[in-house]
Amino acid sequence: TPSSTPRTREEKILVTVRIRPLTPRELANYDLFAWDCTDDNTLVSTNLNHDRHNSTYTFDRVFHPSCPNRSVYEQGARDVALSTIKGINATIFAYGQTSSGKTYTMKGIAENCIDDIYAHINNATTSRFVLKFSAIEIYNETVVDLLNRDSGALRLLDDPEKGTIVEKLTEEVIKNSQHLRRLIATCEDERQVGETSLNDRSSRSHQIIRLTIESNLHDELRCAKSLLASLSLVDLAGSERAAQTNAAGARLKEGSHINRSLLTLTNVIRKLSGGKKTGHIPYRDSKLTRILQSSLGGNARTAIICTVSPALSHVDQSRNTLAFATSAK
Ligand code: ADP
Ligand code: MG
Repeated sequence: TPSSTPRTREEKILVTVRIRPLTPRELANYDLFAWDCTDDNTLVSTNLNHDRHNSTYTFDRVFHPSCPNRSVYEQGARDVALSTIKGINATIFAYGQTSSGKTYTMKGIAENCIDDIYAHINNATTSRFVLKFSAIEIYNETVVDLLNRDSGALRLLDDPEKGTIVEKLTEEVIKNSQHLRRLIATCEDERQVGETSLNDRSSRSHQIIRLTIESNLHDELRCAKSLLASLSLVDLAGSERAAQTNAAGARLKEGSHINRSLLTLTNVIRKLSGGKKTGHIPYRDSKLTRILQSSLGGNARTAIICTVSPALSHVDQSRNTLAFATSAK
């Protein structure tokens, strides 16, 4: 039985780091690489002027700049994503400063997940699956439905059975993989619409795409078994927001410069990875962590892909990201 097998690898948060290539603009500005991936697990600072800092970091996996989305998915997300088919909730995050590659990475994760989940569904002979899709954006602690922006700010409700739910959130039953692709593309467009009204909205907002997978096992013997789990794909606000907040003393104060959801998430992740199962975990301090509570910690599985700019001009933010990644291990 699952409970008698060692669960340490499953319980741990999978923490990987992805270094993107230099952008054309960085190349035009003669920016330099600040990092070197010396093997699959190790990242080394190539900037010797920074030797007062830690210069070697190790993680479950380090993805070098030419690593394609497929490999990032396979080694940084796949196991966690597919656990939803077995009825285990899962969350996959991209964490990193603005322009470090979070959206690029999560797009790749989503595309690969679709193919993988549908390949599994199409091969399964004894189960029937029902997939549902929903998507939200959290901006300034306001929750918006990306499939129906017109419904305005959505409330969170505490359901005795389901935990925290988003009231009136659109849930689409997914017909096939093309339909799922279209839904994801719609959300991307919606997020860009938000962008024009406030130009750095995507650096301040969190996007959560959630797939709910219900599998109905009908074996010929007797009982029909039903499993329900959700996969949350989260494109976080730029981590420079967390750095600003932490510099202000890591206290939760109201104010536009503080991203409550991001700060609370980093606190929750630190507590979960600290291995303390008993202490208070502050899920209820923000909208993001309330919504993700049942998909984080406990019996859920989590992967965090920390995205890092390779550029020397970004090295301080990159160190902040690597410090967070280290604390999440
Ligand atoms: P973020 O969402 O963190 O602000 P983006 O995903 O928008 O960052 O990435 C910033 C830019 O870098 C985009 O033009 C994107 O296409 C490019 N980029 C990011 N990661 C990669 C990568 N691994 N390979 C190639 N280009 C990338
Ligand atoms: Mg982005």
